[in-house]
Amino acid sequence: MATIRIVRSDITTLDVDAVVNAANRQLAGGGGVDGAIHRAAGPELSTACRKLRETTLPDGLPTGDSVATTAGNMPARWVIHTVGPVWAKTIDKSDQLASCYRTSLQVADEIGARSVAFPTISAGVYGYPMDEATRIAVETCRQADTKVDTIYLVAFNDEAEAGYRAALENQR
Ligand code: ADP
Repeated sequence: MATIRIVRSDITTLDVDAVVNAANRQLAGGGGVDGAIHRAAGPELSTACRKLRETTLPDGLPTGDSVATTAGNMPARWVIHTVGPVWAKTIDKSDQLASCYRTSLQVADEIGARSVAFPTISAGVYGYPMDEATRIAVETCRQADTKVDTIYLVAFNDEAEAGYRAALENQR
């Protein structure tokens, strides 16, 4: 079982094996954490994403799936891209969100990453309530069968940090 650590940070600065990106289906870069990662990584990352689209992912990356690329100029070695669900009031998409964490950790195992940092997937533009997004993150990482030693759950603001801490407390 991996150790879970909550850190308050800009994910692009972390010296970990792999940084997870809350990407979009097209792997095209965008706003939020995706934009920050693309800026920090530099052009090598967009080239790698474009190559994936031209080869193995012509239709893009489905929601809940994950794929690894270079991390370009970031301290990390890899970026693991995953596509979170867009929150909807009347549809429960928690399985899709949990799948982002599970498949990212599977990819981490495949590439041999031992330390992995996650942003709060779907909690930005995709609209997930922070308490739900952080609870699913903690629950899924807790239950994951993975060779990863340390999972960093990166809180970008007070609300995220409070959500992670409450979720960790509740599951003790
Ligand atoms: P999504 O489209 O999956 O909702 P966003 O990028 O809009 O993705 O937001 C996901 C989460 O990432 C939000 O909680 C946001 O506060 C956080 N975030 C944004 N920039 C950074 C960053 N540089 N480092 C860590 N977390 C970030």
